[in-house]
Amino acid sequence: MFHNHDSILVQEYASLGAPYLAEVPATPLRTEPALLHLNTQLAADIGLNADELASKPGIDVLGGNAPWPGYASRASVYCGHQFGVFVPQLGDGRALLLAEVRKGKQYRQLQLKGAGPTPYSRHADGRAVLRSSIREYLASEAMHALGIPTTRALSLTASADPVFRETTETAAVVCRVSESFLRFGHAEFFCYTNQLEALRNLLTWHIEQHHPEIDLGNTDASFHQGLLQWLGTVIERTAQMVAQWQAVGFCHGVMNTDNMSLLGLTIDYGPYGFVDGFDIDHICNHSDHQGRYSYRNQPRIAHWNLYALAQAISPLLPDSKETLQNLLDNFADIFQTRHSALFANKLGLPSEQGEAANTLIENTLKFMHEHTLDFTRFFRSLSALNPTASVAGNFAAWQQSPFFPLALGDEAQVNNAQTWIEQWLALAGQTPVEPGVWRTRLDRSNPAFVLRNHLLQNSIEQAQKGDFAEVNRLYKALSDPYTAEKLAPEYTSEPPDWAKTLVLSCSS
Ligand code: AMP
Ligand code: MG
Repeated sequence: MFHNHDSILVQEYASLGAPYLAEVPATPLRTEPALLHLNTQLAADIGLNADELASKPGIDVLGGNAPWPGYASRASVYCGHQFGVFVPQLGDGRALLLAEVRKGKQYRQLQLKGAGPTPYSRHADGRAVLRSSIREYLASEAMHALGIPTTRALSLTASADPVFRETTETAAVVCRVSESFLRFGHAEFFCYTNQLEALRNLLTWHIEQHHPEIDLGNTDASFHQGLLQWLGTVIERTAQMVAQWQAVGFCHGVMNTDNMSLLGLTIDYGPYGFVDGFDIDHICNHSDHQGRYSYRNQPRIAHWNLYALAQAISPLLPDSKETLQNLLDNFADIFQTRHSALFANKLGLPSEQGEAANTLIENTLKFMHEHTLDFTRFFRSLSALNPTASVAGNFAAWQQSPFFPLALGDEAQVNNAQTWIEQWLALAGQTPVEPGVWRTRLDRSNPAFVLRNHLLQNSIEQAQKGDFAEVNRLYKALSDPYTAEKLAPEYTSEPPDWAKTLVLSCSS
């Protein structure tokens, strides 16, 4: 039914069945679900018919009031380390695998989030509120548009059903899309319940499905080899993803091992945040009292999580302790290389400047931190500079940028800015670039717009009153974050003072 002629419904993951997946029907909402948003482009990309999805039968399926024709929905079991503490059983507490869609070589899973309880709900209600669903829907598409690996969002449906959190809110369901929703915690679960055969079979399926470049062969030795190669890939992708987070000032907020994708995708958007005024120790999740998941700590925690994954698969890899350690040791280099390359681009530095570039990147972040400069506006304003002009010329040109991030009345800030320009010129000035080329290049490396919390908050408050215009407007803006001319001024300006007191917790 909902498929275009170029896609088919498949049961590739579903056919694994127990002990990985339990059949669980969605729990219908009592009040009729309404479709608030449909990602028609994504629908077409994966071979689904947007018109049919937007019709009454489609909305029923996307809102969890009817099954996908020909497919029984399922929940998967996993566990994980939450804030460093091992939690022996978690799972899809409010997520349901809705369908699997194949379009030629392209394979995608559809998952409903908030469609009712499952055997893994642990006394919670299996629901998601409108507020957190809007946050997940918009953030996954924003990250995608920024070129950061992420799960995607296909639809947002909502109903008037009450959901109880700190206050009474209403229910919503996001249909999200990914090649896989497997997490580090899936491997941990089958390791720590001592189901090693099941662990091996799950990883074999996963690697064959998602990594055709890895040959597991049919001997134990070839399996070990393939598994190690796969772990290397997970380490690489995770390091790259976190480097990309750092480069746009994205803080995930809950980097528990059950929120880490085996494919290196950003997954489970909760109390995330894009930093406004830069504080290297920024903590976006109010429930994270120790700052375990602060901006500064994200790379270290990703590394820690990879240790947990390596630990979980180690029973399948006898005598590989040293090899595992060596693989894990690569994390720092992979992360650093990508981090340097991304920030060098953001600063418009010619490639291959090694240590000098790293020092400048570090000093730039220090300068931004010291004066709490707006992360997005600082980098975006750099296209106004000119690597062939003088310090004074640059300081004057910088002030002409609509993104100029400094407070001119602050003497220390202005002095430090001049020192910073000097350091920057010493590197950026080495290969002169034509001004037009420079501006385009820099503006392509530095988004003018990120999904700031106060903008989200505005859109949520209006949506809670039944007006979705602002959600739609944000959605449009985030699809093209690099073209400043198309953006409303309030999307690119500094956040208002009240944004500083916005508090986000795990409640969702
Ligand atoms: P999170 O920290 O949001 O990724 O959630 C951690 C675990 O709690 C996961 O296993 C979720 O499925 C589960 N969970 C969170 N909220 C709910 C809810 N409202 N109902 C059922 N399970 C939930
Ligand atoms: Mg989660």
